[in-house]
Amino acid sequence: MSGNERMYVEQAFETNWIAPLGPNVKALEEDFARYAGTKGALAVSSGTSAIHLALQVLGVGRGDTVFCSSLTFIASANPIVYQGAEPVFIDSESDTWNMSPKALEIGLEAAKKKRMLPKAVILVHLFGQSAKVAEILDICRKYKVALIEDAAESLGSTYKGKQTGSFGDIGIYSLNGNKIITASGGGILVSDNQELLDKALFLATQARDPAIHYQHSSIGYNYRLSNILAGVARAQLEVLDDRIKARRCVFNRYKKSLEAIPGITFMPQLKDTMGNRWLTALLIDEKITGISPIEIIDALEAENIESRPVWKPLHLQPVFKGSDMFTETDEECVSSSLFEQGLCLPSGSAMTETDQERVVAIVKKIAAPSKITQ
Ligand SMILES: *Cc1c(COP(=O)(O)O)cnc(C)c1O
Repeated sequence: MSGNERMYVEQAFETNWIAPLGPNVKALEEDFARYAGTKGALAVSSGTSAIHLALQVLGVGRGDTVFCSSLTFIASANPIVYQGAEPVFIDSESDTWNMSPKALEIGLEAAKKKRMLPKAVILVHLFGQSAKVAEILDICRKYKVALIEDAAESLGSTYKGKQTGSFGDIGIYSLNGNKIITASGGGILVSDNQELLDKALFLATQARDPAIHYQHSSIGYNYRLSNILAGVARAQLEVLDDRIKARRCVFNRYKKSLEAIPGITFMPQLKDTMGNRWLTALLIDEKITGISPIEIIDALEAENIESRPVWKPLHLQPVFKGSDMFTETDEECVSSSLFEQGLCLPSGSAMTETDQERVVAIVKKIAAPSKITQ
């Protein structure tokens, strides 16, 4: 927390706006739309509910398919299944770790031949790294498929100077506890299309028809964000740029200290983009280092330091067994090898240099023992 959260929460108490909605929600939506550079924003209960609403307003339903990045957290794809639709996964490319435009086009071409084009593509900006937005957008336009940007991890990251999340038909952000800023829980849906925004608001508030009596012609949800949490989120958005600076600084320190070790490579950054470096992610080539990412995770754990593998790709998840998956070539699955070699180091914005030195020392000790000179 930054300190200002209390002020906005206090305002909610003083004015007795405890009920869902209220001035903080409206202000938060205006702040987000301004920050993202979109026509509007809708504050909802989670990033997951924002994706769910996005799919619904784009007309995804039973029997449809939706293409989705494979290398991501499962919340990117779960709402596809809530809608009774089928997820189809798209592999990563090695230069961004994000959805490969080439694999996407192969998948869309195959779907077109079967007359089964997806209703939407969900593009994830993994760990704060922007995907190749222009290429992906061009392909989606060519096949006339809607684009949803899952920018849950990339709030504040830019592609050619514009915010990730602002390019697709709909973008979503998360305010969950683990993200770069948080309301403890919450999500934001952004769009330039007022009609989609209105529809999403309608569905997020129990789909109430415009009548004084309670009348409903469709099924809705209770997905709005509370005025209290919106107060927390407002103050967090004010410090987002500081958080990004801190996370990028954490990344750069790790990189400087560890990149000389043979077999260790850091997640690259695409040209003309600025990533928020939500998590510092790197690859450990066991053939060169002699140790696996899991061994590093265990060594850190022994010192009470938490680190994680990168997300297990969705096409490898038991729950999605049998789902279609498209890769650039038949020989290689990039997301699977990123999973096997990937490691996320502790990356919190509040980490001190001393905290980081502890992590670096442990990694060095087991990944490059001969390089330790003192
Ligand atoms: C966190 C996350 C979500 C879900 O957001 P919640 O607010 O936790 O529901 C979706 N996609 C990705 C890539 C995420 O990291």
